[in-house]
Amino acid sequence: MDLQLMAALSNADAIASNEGEVRTILRDYLKPVDLKVQTDGLGSLIFTKRTVKPAFSVMIYGHMDEVGYMVRTITPEGLLRLMVVGGVKPLASHWQSVRVTTVSGKKLPGMVIRDESLAAFDQILCDVGANSAAEVAALGITIGDMVTFSTDFTEYAADGGGKALDDRLGCYVGARLLQELAEDELPFTLRFAATSSEEVGIRGAKTATQLIQPDLAFIVDVATFQNPRERSEVNQRQVGSGPILTHFDRTLAPNRTLQQFVKETAATASLPLQLDMFNGGGTDGGEAHKVGVGIPTVVTILPCRYGHCAQSLAQAQDVDQMVALYAAMCRRLTVATAEKARSF
Ligand SMILES: [Zn+2]
Repeated sequence: MDLQLMAALSNADAIASNEGEVRTILRDYLKPVDLKVQTDGLGSLIFTKRTVKPAFSVMIYGHMDEVGYMVRTITPEGLLRLMVVGGVKPLASHWQSVRVTTVSGKKLPGMVIRDESLAAFDQILCDVGANSAAEVAALGITIGDMVTFSTDFTEYAADGGGKALDDRLGCYVGARLLQELAEDELPFTLRFAATSSEEVGIRGAKTATQLIQPDLAFIVDVATFQNPRERSEVNQRQVGSGPILTHFDRTLAPNRTLQQFVKETAATASLPLQLDMFNGGGTDGGEAHKVGVGIPTVVTILPCRYGHCAQSLAQAQDVDQMVALYAAMCRRLTVATAEKARSF
């Protein structure tokens, strides 16, 4: 694993529609690779590998935004009242380190606290050490500023831990894949879309897909099993057991041909593959597959423990295997498979 890239992506701050830090990291990392770079109208960043005579086109998706907060009001005693942006776990808003990013990009440390004696809408507050609204204003903090967890990416014995692994792991996989395939001649146009605003209703995946209209869509996202101590076959989201293929989620029943293609490729490349499905949740695939007349779409997931909170744990080996799985898929994907995915 390129730990430097992974740490930079995890430590970057980006809630929906405020994803500039992640865009900068991805643009800089992929600068040495010959790619066309464009954005959609929401800020999704799309990299296109140049191909002579492509027969079809493929887009891989990973979302840039993380769950976090926005400054909603400033109290007279100098506290920031926060609004949740995305599905932050309720317990994760109790006594956690966060940081405020001001309009000018200044970073200010704070602590998110929850006062349950207040009405639900008013419970989540942030203390930046100020004692009055005037002090807060003097720090440069204004309503609408982004507030994110401030956990530093840390290397564990086998795992990496950090904030925003959902879905900076997907951004990492997309970036590494384009670098890995830089010298390959593929029979199709390969794109990676780092999408905007997934956590607030899968928005950038829709607009990026409308812009590009790929023939096939592959999603890379992250999932957590509800009980992290479950180690039986019931848990098909185990950290350290490899990438996951999703057969169903609330937003998408994936294309059967592409599911089979993922399974065959994993077997051929001797890579492990966990086989999962869920009735809740969704990914960029939920909107991507509905664009135009419908786009064959499949969802692959990286396992992590403790999602949508101050820190998640993932394993480098799983992430490396996901990059290897995508490299293998790109190298064996033919026009015949693309046509089969659209033949019913
Ligand atoms: Zn996600």
